[in-house]
This record gives sequence, C-alpha cells and structure tokens, in this order.
Amino acid sequence: MSDTPEHIVVVGAGAAGLMAARELARAGRRVTILEARARCGGRILPLPASQFGYPADGGAEFVHGEAPVTRALLREAGLSLLEIEGAQWSFDGASFSRESRHDPHEAELHAVLAELKDDLTVADFLRRHFAGPEYDRLRYSTTRMVEGYDAADPARASILALREEWMDGGHHIQARIVGGYGALIDFLAAECRGHGAAIHFGCVVSAIEDEGNAVVVRCANGDAHGCDRVIVTVPLPLLRGIALPAAARAKAAAADDIGFGSVIKILLRFARPWWRERKPDLADMTFLLSQQTIPVWWTRYPDQQPVLTGWFGGPRTAQLEGLDPQGLVDAGLSSLAGIFALPREDVARDLVAAEAVNWAHDPFARGAYSWATPRTRDAQTILARVDGSVLFSGEALYRGRDMGTVEAALASGLATAGTILRR
Ligand SMILES: Cc1cc2nc3c(=O)[nH]c(=O)nc-3n(C[C@H](O)[C@H](O)[C@H](O)COP(=O)(O)OP(=O)(O)OC[C@H]3O[C@@H](n4cnc5c(N)ncnc54)[C@H](O)[C@@H]3O)c2cc1C
Repeated sequence: MSDTPEHIVVVGAGAAGLMAARELARAGRRVTILEARARCGGRILPLPASQFGYPADGGAEFVHGEAPVTRALLREAGLSLLEIEGAQWSFDGASFSRESRHDPHEAELHAVLAELKDDLTVADFLRRHFAGPEYDRLRYSTTRMVEGYDAADPARASILALREEWMDGGHHIQARIVGGYGALIDFLAAECRGHGAAIHFGCVVSAIEDEGNAVVVRCANGDAHGCDRVIVTVPLPLLRGIALPAAARAKAAAADDIGFGSVIKILLRFARPWWRERKPDLADMTFLLSQQTIPVWWTRYPDQQPVLTGWFGGPRTAQLEGLDPQGLVDAGLSSLAGIFALPREDVARDLVAAEAVNWAHDPFARGAYSWATPRTRDAQTILARVDGSVLFSGEALYRGRDMGTVEAALASGLATAGTILRR
C-alpha cells in the first residue's frame, strides 16, 4: 500500500463540496477544491451587513424542518438559530387577511395523499382527485405552493415527493441562522483549510479525463489537477458543460429526470417600515402572499429591520426573463405599490438599498434548486452509484424529504465522503 494519501478533487465549494472536503481532509485524505467563483458558498450568497443592516442572504436564508446535519454543524460552529415568528398574511387584490392556512378540504387532501400508492404528477393528481369546482381554491393554493415554494413545475413534479415534504411535520419549523448562512460557510471553509484542504477560486472545470490509474481534472483557465478521485457537486444544469469519462457521462444523463427550478429573490431596505405605519395590523407580519408580479414578501419579524424580501419561484419566472437586476427591483416596487395601494414613487422614495438576483441568470447555478419528478428517485440511485473515479454529490442527490435545501447539500456531501472513507 502506498504511503501517499489518496488525492481527491472536489468540484464546487458550495455546502456539499465543503462538507465532503472537510470530512475527507480530517480523515487524512489530500483534498483540492476547485471553485468557479471567487468565493465559497455557491447558492448561499451572503450580502454585506453594511448594505442591509444585518448579514442578509441573497440565496438560501431559512433552515427548514429538523435539518439534523445543519443543526449539528451549527452547534460545532457555535452558531445559533432564531425561529421564525409572526403571522402569515395574504392580499387577494382587495383586502388583507390573516392566512388561516387551512383549506376546508385539507383533511380530504391528506386522506387521499395517505392512500396514494403509485406516483403521478401534481397536475394529474389534482385532475384525478380534486377536479370539481368546490376544489378551485385547493387546486390554486396547491399549484402556487408547488411553484412558489418548491420552484417546481406542477405538470412534472412528483406528488409522492410532495407528500413526504408536506406530511410528517416536514418544513414545519423554520428558522434563520444568527449571522446568516455565510457564517456557516465561513466555518466550513476554515475547517477545510485547517485540515489541509486547498481551495482554488476562478477554476471553471471543463473536463474530467480518466487516464487508467489516475484522473485529470481540467479547468477553463488551463490548470490541470491529477488525482485519484473526483467529487462533482455542481448544480444539475452545469453538469452538461463538463466533459466526462464515458461511465460518468452515462450516469450524468440520469439528471434529466430531476427537476431544477428558478427563483427570483429581491431584497429591499427602506428608511422606515412604512408598511407597518400604513397598516398597523401588519405589525407581526412575517409572510405576505399576493397575486402581484412578485407575489411573496417577508419581513425579518421579530427583528424590526425595515427590509422586505420578495420571492417569485417556479416556471412562471420565465415571464421576467428579460429583466436585469434594476428591472427586477422596479417590478418589486410596483408589486408592493399594488398591494398597499400607493403610488410607486412613494414606495421608491424610502428605498435605501436593493439587491435582486434572478438565479436562472447566475452562470454557475442556472437556477435555484432541484425538485422531484416521479422518476427522480431512480435517477438519484444511478447518479449516486460508485462505479468509477467520478462521484456526484450535491443537494439534487439527497433522497430525504428536504430536497433542494442546504440540509440536502450538507447531508449529500457527508454521505459521499462516507462512501469514499468506507472503501
Ligand atoms: C434564491 C435561493 C433561495 C434558497 N433558499 C433556501 C433556504 O431558505 N433554505 C435552504 O435550505 N435552501 C435554500 N436554497 C437552496 C440551497 O441554497 C441549495 O440547495 C444549496 O446551497 C446547494 O448547495 P450545493 O453545494 O449542492 O450546490 P452549490 O451551492 O450550487 O455549490 C456548487 C458550486 O459549484 C460551483 N460550480 C459550478 N460550476 C462549476 C464548474 N464548472 N467548475 C467549478 N465549480 C463550479 C458553483 O459556483 C458552486 O459554488 C435556496 C437557493 C436559492 C437559489
């Protein structure tokens, strides 16, 4: 047996890549991380505290559900969570109401879901079981939830995956990390470096070549890194841009059976919380759902920063494809003006800072996160197969109910490292 430790190249310094790298490096493997951007974190995008008054997040923001891997890491890092409080409101175009969250047919929906044996798409499920006019609201809210929350296409999304996510308490607790997700990434990156892993920025991996006993990873800037194994953690749409050895290419084709959604996120910081002044009832508002172009908004309640975050997810975001960040900020201001029946200029006057990201336009994400189709579980099995020197990891490979989350990415990275260390 050779004295030289196994050299593993990790492609991507997001949550999955850093987690896998940390585990491998602390187990004595030589680890090199190649990252296309000039920073770690990937779809975790920390924004400067000076811009919004707190370390805001342009990408992932919430910790959903139990998230055991995330919570264990937070404890290790000495970071804490603040649970979301407050009320969810909705605006139907005429008036505001506190969301009851409970549709009169919710129990029926759950009963039908519980009985379901075979998978089908959300759209087919609603057509088959809830076609009548009495279910109009249920169909509307379910479709909007699938699009907005999961960034998924109801015509392709798996109803069994959603059952897993919605039932058994999934997603019920929501919290934010004090210091933002950036603090967790800083911790992981420091751990990687502390255990000897090298992180190279500006390395857009373009090819992975299998040369018998070794693998060569080539970057667009001409760098080449020889190693024993590669873990590829890039978002699904980026996989197609990397030339892979034949066996890995065959596995990667399975990614077509995993959905990948888009999200537009807009952060607006105002000089004062004008919405609370205008509508004192909204003092404890966290989420606000509407039918505006940018339909969902949230505050940081119980924190009182005068910041509103806008959210638009799913296939309909393609309608805003042509807007640049300033165009998205304008669309956000118009949506708020529509909800609060104010002239747009009045809303714009108090604006202090703004940031808008259409994640479909991000060259190293090309979307926000993955979602399951009825063929996704099989695709994940193929992608996770260890039958060569190239392994795939990342949020899209996670098989639990919180697919598309940071927890999914961390758990996937941990599992991939475990697979290598057990061999
Ligand atoms: C707007 C938005 C909001 C979200 N909100 C939440 C939330 O509230 N809670 C939650 O849990 N999750 C949320 N998510 C999802 C979460 O951010 C992701 O699931 C998670 O961060 C993915 O981690 P990853 O390591 O799998 O992928 P990534 O973070 O995408 O990491 C992959 C890395 O690979 C790099 N890369 C890409 N191509 C190449 C290449 N060719 N060569 C080298 N490097 C490359 C990328 O730059 C990136 O750094 C959100 C995502 C978005 C976009």
